[in-house]
Amino acid sequence: MQEAPAITPFDAEPLREKTVLITGGAQGIGRGIAQAVLGAGGNVCIGDRDAEAGRACIEEWDVGKRAHFFVLDVAREASVIRWIASAKKHFGRIDGLVNNAGIAQPHAAPIAELTLADWNRYIATNLTGAFLCCKHAMTDLQKRRGGIVNIASTRALQSEPDTEAYAASKGGLVALTHALAVSAGPHVRTNAILPGWIATDAWRRPDQRAMPKLSRRDHAQHPAGRVGAPEDIGALAVYLLSPQSGFVTGQCFVVDGGMTIKMQYK
Ligand code: NDP
Repeated sequence: MQEAPAITPFDAEPLREKTVLITGGAQGIGRGIAQAVLGAGGNVCIGDRDAEAGRACIEEWDVGKRAHFFVLDVAREASVIRWIASAKKHFGRIDGLVNNAGIAQPHAAPIAELTLADWNRYIATNLTGAFLCCKHAMTDLQKRRGGIVNIASTRALQSEPDTEAYAASKGGLVALTHALAVSAGPHVRTNAILPGWIATDAWRRPDQRAMPKLSRRDHAQHPAGRVGAPEDIGALAVYLLSPQSGFVTGQCFVVDGGMTIKMQYK
């Protein structure tokens, strides 16, 4: 008779000794992901265009060499190349990449008034930035059989008026995710998280930090009973970067407290 499969204990530090690069990692959701990675035993290299926010993270985390900050503008290829070189110099390896940096304000202008410059700004940061980071981290990710997590949005699936540039950039990220999962597999897995409403006020740099002003109605409209927090995204990102998700690639995970599955007719 064959032996029964063993009960294996759940690894409390699934990212031990792994190095994860996170764009826009100094504030908001990116900082939440960085802290989740640190909590899972990993090292983080955060790249962010806000130098003060980045320095505050390193000081507040106080984890020594396990965290590294580098000023980054994901929309500029030279900046991405320098960031990745700095991560390799500091850690000697890249196991994960989280493409999180983005212009988080979805509302731009009615399409007849939306300037080409504004359209290009959204696409450059939210979509081209992810492409550049994937391109320049790929060789190192392949060496480590690493993982990529793209932070898209539920706005890749549904919209409010006057959000075309943002929605298109996030829809592009979803397509980039399945395309790359096919091209870069089996060595590199690629997945996307589509957050809903995530309150980030308490996750900003110290001088801009605030308690989120959320009403009872804001929370109650969500089937899960509350607005989301960066930890909600961090927990899933850790799973998607860890060996436990080794059979998961090319997928999009909606994390929105159930808002997109709710009928809205009133
Ligand atoms: P925040 O604005 O709170 O944080 C984003 C961080 O990324 C900031 O530090 C920002 O710096 C930085 N950043 C912006 N542009 C660049 C760039 N070109 N290069 C490097 N760093 C940059 O955003 P959120 O945490 O709210 O959002 C993070 C991601 O999650 C975004 O992609 C957003 O679209 C997505 N998202 C957010 C949702 C939410 O409800 N919060 C919902 C769905 C998706 P600076 O402050 O200087 O701009």
